[in-house]
Amino acid sequence: HSTVHQIQSGQVIVDLCSVAKELVENGIDAGATAIDVRFKNQGLDAIEVQDNGSGISSQNYESIALKHYTSKLYTYDDLSTLQTFGFRGEALSSLCALSIFTIVTCTQQEAPRATKLGFEMSGKLKGTSVVSGQKGTTVVVENLFHNLPVRRRELERNIKREWGKVIGLLNQYACVQTGVKFTVSQQPTKGKRMVLFSTKGNPTTRDNIINVFGVKTMNALITLDLTLEMKPTNGLVKKGQTQEDDSTAKVHIRGHVSRPTHGEGRQTPDRQMFYVNGRPCGLPQFAKVFNEVYRSYNASQSPFIFADIQLDTHMYDVNVSPDKRTILLHDQGQMLDNMRESLIELFETQDV
Ligand code: ADP
Ligand code: MG
Repeated sequence: HSTVHQIQSGQVIVDLCSVAKELVENGIDAGATAIDVRFKNQGLDAIEVQDNGSGISSQNYESIALKHYTSKLYTYDDLSTLQTFGFRGEALSSLCALSIFTIVTCTQQEAPRATKLGFEMSGKLKGTSVVSGQKGTTVVVENLFHNLPVRRRELERNIKREWGKVIGLLNQYACVQTGVKFTVSQQPTKGKRMVLFSTKGNPTTRDNIINVFGVKTMNALITLDLTLEMKPTNGLVKKGQTQEDDSTAKVHIRGHVSRPTHGEGRQTPDRQMFYVNGRPCGLPQFAKVFNEVYRSYNASQSPFIFADIQLDTHMYDVNVSPDKRTILLHDQGQMLDNMRESLIELFETQDV
């Protein structure tokens, strides 16, 4: 059964991005206001994520890395109104099966006495020791995929692309999370640690974008604030609402986008960031519409996009794939048509 555990874990943790994503999301879920992501050798040697969140209380040490243990989802009903990033209890257990995995954690009451936790591959707690530390949790993932040689070689072979992807993803979290100080650093095998970017715990996404991409980028953007009226269609019924009820649902798209006159040279995916209710996700169909509309004003460039699609939780499903990367939006076609019109309207009102 340990092989089965390994295979299932490999569906949750597929690459560097999934490690960074799961650990950063755990920090956010723990209420952190500072998250420090440290890579060694671009993550091939280690990825460490330190947060100043709640810490883990000692009665949970035994269970946190067991399969399906989560402290976050209380009833099945909660799935439709999910507020936390995590809810499956699969990340830590998967990381135990796929890496050399350690946690140092400390709650408010215990500081400055932290506890270091070691785990077996199954997620069973192997041992604890006392170390010094501040309130929060540090998770260390070393030698990712060390026990899956094919996967490991694949990771090493594609490290350049993987690295670009993981930094892009961290940019995405850093830009959207207001009130959280992000620091991302990398240390080569030989050489000094370098900070790649950081945010300052800003109150606005605008300030976050300035920290990550620079003030020049920010100055070339206009505010994105679209309201899409969605006509009800079959299958989309709110609680306490009947199918015949013809009230429209509203979708908001908020963020920042390049002025039609100030685009970016090439289309760079790391400068086109999409979210659903603050959750970073790839939405290629949305990106396509943005790019098409934009190019009708500025044929030679592509827009910088920071777009958070805000909608009722009953209008989408994040529970599609184990890595929660795929989001299903209800009636995406209508949403995209609506968005195209609103975007054209927005660009029309800008002097091109
Ligand atoms: P999930 O996030 O789906 O609950 P995980 O496997 O990511 O599952 O984490 C398991 C549990 O470990 C969490 O529910 C939480 O109780 C605890 N945990 C994980 N990371 C942290 C953290 N950084 N700070 C506090 N608690 C954490
Ligand atoms: Mg989690």
